[in-house]
Amino acid sequence: MASLNPGVRVRFAPSPTGALHLGGARTALFNYLFARHNNGRFIVRIEDTDRARSTKESELEIFEMMEWMGMRSDEPVERQTERMGRYEAVASQLLAAGAAYRCYCTAEAIERDRAAAEAEGKGYRYPGTCRELSSPPPGAGPFVLRLKVPQARAIEIDDLVRGKVVVRSEEVDDWILVRSEGTPTYNFTVVVDDTDMRITHVIRGEDHLANTPKQILLYQAMGKPAPAFAHVSMILGSDKTKLSKRHGATSVRQFREQGILAPALLNYLARLGWSHGDQEVFTLDEMIRLFELEEVNPAAAVFNPEKLLWVNAQHLKALADGDLCAQALDYARFTKRPEAGLMADADCASRAMGSLKTRARTLAELLDQVRPFLTERVEFESGLLEAVSAPEKSALLGEVSNWLAARTDFEATRLEQDFRSWCEQKSLKLGEVAQPLRIALTGRKASPPIFQVIEVLGKRRTIDRIAAVCGAASR
Ligand code: GLU
Repeated sequence: MASLNPGVRVRFAPSPTGALHLGGARTALFNYLFARHNNGRFIVRIEDTDRARSTKESELEIFEMMEWMGMRSDEPVERQTERMGRYEAVASQLLAAGAAYRCYCTAEAIERDRAAAEAEGKGYRYPGTCRELSSPPPGAGPFVLRLKVPQARAIEIDDLVRGKVVVRSEEVDDWILVRSEGTPTYNFTVVVDDTDMRITHVIRGEDHLANTPKQILLYQAMGKPAPAFAHVSMILGSDKTKLSKRHGATSVRQFREQGILAPALLNYLARLGWSHGDQEVFTLDEMIRLFELEEVNPAAAVFNPEKLLWVNAQHLKALADGDLCAQALDYARFTKRPEAGLMADADCASRAMGSLKTRARTLAELLDQVRPFLTERVEFESGLLEAVSAPEKSALLGEVSNWLAARTDFEATRLEQDFRSWCEQKSLKLGEVAQPLRIALTGRKASPPIFQVIEVLGKRRTIDRIAAVCGAASR
C-alpha cells in the first residue's frame, strides 16, 4: 500500500460545455479517492476559456451532480476566465526569457502548407519559420505566441497507470501558447494553473495523453517541476466504441433520474478500470481505504448498464430501512414523483421499504412497488376492483376480515402459519384466498408476499381496505 502522503494535491478540471458524463465523473472519482486515500487535497477547477461553448448552466449542473455524489472541492473553485491576467504575465515572461517567440505566419499560409503536406500523405508540423526572427518581418500582421521546443530531446512520462511513455521532442512542434486574438490555449492554461495550484498528480482521461509531452516541455521552459501523470482509459459502450449518447444514458443526471444511488454509481464507476481482488461491492470508505493508482487497469473499460443495476440493487439492500426511506423521499422529490407527497407517514413508508428492498433494483422500481402502501385509498388496476367485489369473493374477504379482526399478532411469519391452518379447517386453498386479498389490499395482481403486505399495512389499514372492497360489493 502506498504510504500516506498528505502533500498530495489533485484537481478535477471539467470544461463546462455540457452535462457531467460518466467519463468525467469517473475521472473526478479517481482524483477524489486518491486524494482521500493519501489525506491530500481534492480541488475543482473550471476550464471555461472556450467562451463560445462554456455555459453557466453547465457549470451549475456539474456542481449539482458533484454535490449529489458527495465530491466537494477542498479549496475555493478556480475559474480560468478569472485568471487571464496571470496567463498574460507568464506569456510575457516566457517571451522575455526566449522560451517562446512571436510567429507572424498567417493562418492562410499555415493552412496551405498543411494541405500540401496532407496531399503528399505526410502529417503537418509547423516548421519553425519565425523561430529565429529578431524583429517582425516587413508588413507583419497579428502574431501568435509559440513555445520554442528544444530539439533532439527525449520526453519521458512515467505514467502511474500506463508505465513509461517516451516521446521525442522532434515529434512535438512549436505549439501555440497564445492565439492571435490574445486568448491562451488549453495546454498553456493547464500548465500555468497546475503550477500555481501546486498540483502533484494529474489524473485524467487517456484522451489527454497526446497533450502531456507538450505540457512537460512547458514545465521545463518555465523551470517548474512537472506533476506525476496518470492517464486512465476510456469508457466504451458494448460495441467497443467510445461511450456516447448512442449508447443510451451517459450523464450522471440520467442515472440519478433512473433511481441509481450515488454510492452505487461511485462503486460502479470505480470498478470501471479499478479493481481490488474480485470484490464488486464497495462502500465509499472502503474504496478510499483500498484505492491505488497502480491497480487501475490501462485497458479500456466497457460500460454495462445491467451490472450497474446489479450493483445498485446490492446498495439498496444494504441500506437501513430509515436511510432507504430518506433516499427514496429525496429521489421522489428530485424526480417530482407524486409519492413524495405520500410519504408523510414515514414509519409506514420505511417499513414498506424494508420489506420491498430486496425486490427492487432502482429507487424508481422501489417507489412503484411501495406506492400501494402509501396511498390513502387503494388504486386498482383496471378491472380488478370489479373482479374482487364479486359476491362470493367479497363474502370470502369478509370472513378473512373477521378472522383478522380477532387477532392482535400481525407479525408476518406467525400470521402465515395461523392463516394456513385456518384455511385448512375451512377446506380452502391458500391461493384462492390470497389472491383476492392481495387485490383488495394493493389493487394489483403482483405484490410482495401477502403476509408481509399485511404486516406493513397493520391491522387497521388492512381491515379498512377489505371493508372498502366489501362496501363496493354491497352497493
Ligand atoms: N478540461 C479538460 C477536460 O474537460 C481536462 C483537462 C485536464 O484534466 O488536464 O477534458
